Amino acid sequence: MEYFSLHKNAPNVSFKEAVIRGLAPDKGLYFPSEIKPLSKHFFEDIGEMTEVEIALEVIKPFVGDDIPEADLKNILVDTLNFKFPLTEIDQNLYALELYHGPTLAFKDVGARFMARCLGYFNQQNQNPQDVTVLVATSGDTGGAVASGFFKVPGVEVVILFPKGKVSDIQEKQLTTFGENITAIEVEGTFDDCQEMVKTAFLDEELLVHKKLTSANSINVARWLPQMFYYFFAYKQLKSKGFPLVFSVPSGNFGNICAGMMAQKLGLPIHHFISGTNANEVVPRYLDSGIYDPKPSIATISNAMDVGSPSNFIRIQEIYNNDISTLRKNLSAYGYSDAETEKALIYLYAEKGYIADPHGAIGYLAARKYLDENPENLAVFLETAHPVKFKDVIPADISEKIIIPQSIQAILHKKKEAETISTYSQLKSKLLN
Ligand SMILES: *Cc1c(COP(=O)(O)O)cnc(C)c1O
Repeated sequence: MEYFSLHKNAPNVSFKEAVIRGLAPDKGLYFPSEIKPLSKHFFEDIGEMTEVEIALEVIKPFVGDDIPEADLKNILVDTLNFKFPLTEIDQNLYALELYHGPTLAFKDVGARFMARCLGYFNQQNQNPQDVTVLVATSGDTGGAVASGFFKVPGVEVVILFPKGKVSDIQEKQLTTFGENITAIEVEGTFDDCQEMVKTAFLDEELLVHKKLTSANSINVARWLPQMFYYFFAYKQLKSKGFPLVFSVPSGNFGNICAGMMAQKLGLPIHHFISGTNANEVVPRYLDSGIYDPKPSIATISNAMDVGSPSNFIRIQEIYNNDISTLRKNLSAYGYSDAETEKALIYLYAEKGYIADPHGAIGYLAARKYLDENPENLAVFLETAHPVKFKDVIPADISEKIIIPQSIQAILHKKKEAETISTYSQLKSKLLN
């Protein structure tokens, strides 16, 4: 499988090179040159297949010859070592819980897969050169990447996060690993962190000394495995026989875009619904036809505080840059913090379900679509465990959250992070 740059000004590359580079030399995102639907047999047999077997069929064509099937299968066994349960909320509405992995967020899937692919490529290398994964996080990405890459040979990880702007638990998840993981606090916002990462990727002088790659969802090895759980949900709900729609709480739009790829592979998804917080670029675009990225606004669903979603260009590619095709496949609704909080309270009081603020937005968007289109079966993605957002969940609900073992284990660990405020400080750290 070859990947081309969506800026159309760089050579095509294999999966391996796309993973190692992250971004194409022309700064475009990589996109697969061919998307072939899976066979009829696959969809007939899916009920009998294990999750690893499903994932293998789904990802194989995208990896091509770069990883032999037996090794790829091992990577998948390792990646998918947790559960993806569906919880019924209403008769035709389910939560797909993606938070049972090591850092309690869906990003574990992509981060674990990418880390293992990169580790594999390093091992194959005759002259292994250390790769540095440089990543900016508003909270969840950093923890998943740190956990996924912990002790992967030949890979150094540097994580930038905005000082004082991630939750206590997220901070513990970022700053307590040690070994090959370095956490750096930036005096500033998430956008400042992201700006530093972008500057580093363009810094020729730095690149002479360091092989840098990104672990944000622009990397194909983080983006594509997010297709898997759409298939897992379908497997469980297939027998119900209703048109299936997915509601995805969205920030950078990588997760929902992976669902759209699954649809391209033939998965019968009738419609996508994107829920956003106050960062409403995409809902506004679908309403007005005008795409107008904005600086991000801080909300209680902070992993979605993105004013310029990096994966939207891939969504445009999937639907041929045609807004009417896009509108047929995607509805998008934005919600305020007050509405999100109301949904958290409603879900707990009426359904006995503790959601996190991101999942609550997924729920609201799903509910709205179902109210207008009641013949469908909706699944919203519950993207993080509520414990990670304890500080913004109303106290009488948050005290009911059972703290998982993995969190108990890090709460007493000591935070290790250096603080910086400028790019030149970052650069000298990377060069040392
Ligand atoms: C990252 C994240 C999102 C947004 O996912 P995108 O792929 O960026 O749209 C939603 N919820 C949680 C909990 C996240 O960590």
